[in-house]
Amino acid sequence: MSKFWSDVVREIEPYVPGEQPKIAGLIKLNTNESPYPPSPEVAKTIDRDAVDQLRLYPDPNASELSQALADYYQLDVGQVFVGNGSDEVLAQLFMAFLQGRGTVLYPDISYSFYPVYCQLFGVPAKTIPLREDFSLALADYSTEAAGIIFPNPNAPTGMGVALDEIEQLLKARPDTLVVVDEAYIDFGGESAASLVSRYDNVLVVQTFSKSRALAGMRVGFALGQRSLIEGLERVKNSFNSYPLDRLAQRAATAAIQDDDYFKASCAKVVATRDRMTSRLEALGFTVLPSQANFIFAKPPAAVSAETLAAQLREHKILVRYFNRERISDYLRITVGTDEQIDTLLAVVESLLKGA
Ligand SMILES: *Cc1c(COP(=O)(O)O)cnc(C)c1O
Repeated sequence: MSKFWSDVVREIEPYVPGEQPKIAGLIKLNTNESPYPPSPEVAKTIDRDAVDQLRLYPDPNASELSQALADYYQLDVGQVFVGNGSDEVLAQLFMAFLQGRGTVLYPDISYSFYPVYCQLFGVPAKTIPLREDFSLALADYSTEAAGIIFPNPNAPTGMGVALDEIEQLLKARPDTLVVVDEAYIDFGGESAASLVSRYDNVLVVQTFSKSRALAGMRVGFALGQRSLIEGLERVKNSFNSYPLDRLAQRAATAAIQDDDYFKASCAKVVATRDRMTSRLEALGFTVLPSQANFIFAKPPAAVSAETLAAQLREHKILVRYFNRERISDYLRITVGTDEQIDTLLAVVESLLKGA
């Protein structure tokens, strides 16, 4: 605390990211990163020439990357906005479309950055409880609001919302901005990118951090109608004209263009997820139906989630435990490689025998 802190800085409770400890041999299943490296095209594009060009400012509009994304999602380049990780894009859209415009609604169990942005930008928030089975029912979002934001699939539950339910919401609430945070969409959900051309009240936000294995590069993007993208650009150009460095623009473009590699990595994650789900269920866990690259699982009564997380840590396996209402019995476990998950399952089985 310093006498120079503003009211906002004094009162905010900043987001706490999952740990990134430097422990050799750690099996890291706590922050939903990809267990596989990015496309080999990424390493090829970061060559001597790319490094030499670092003396020059990057393209402020990341035109090549934006065009590659537009091609991928069959949109116009004017319907694409890129930023330094999707967290930054989310902050920019809070500033562009929610600050001073009314209340924002989001699920009670959801991404914990949303309340932080609400505090940072002074946006009133109202949480809407997930149903008893942890499903997210958009029919429950009937309160008057400037915006509605939710992850699809939701985090940390992994459970998805159907595209037609999202479309119903867009039709029912033409004056509310609906933000679909699709950080995990590539592992089995249906993207709302296909709705962007037909609805002016939807923004789809995605990231290269999970399915495209570039968490260390910091690239995220939003898809929406031109006027929404222009709003985001006004914020961006009033804060930092060059949010994406040259290497990030090249890496992300190479990653989006290597679709075969991308699809194969996602398919491997999905296969491992389904296998670990059945094995954990056989060990007595309750596992929510996941469409993401992680599972949300409740251990059998013999051991609490918190204890199991601590025991796994002693075996150099890191998972995520949230000491929060409704979910303190669950662990969020990122889908690793088959080898990592075999180790996890063996350790869990032996711990349960000892419990
Ligand atoms: C990981 C995650 C993000 C942030 O992604 P970055 O692009 O790495 O900033 C956003 N939303 C949700 C729900 C996430 O899980």
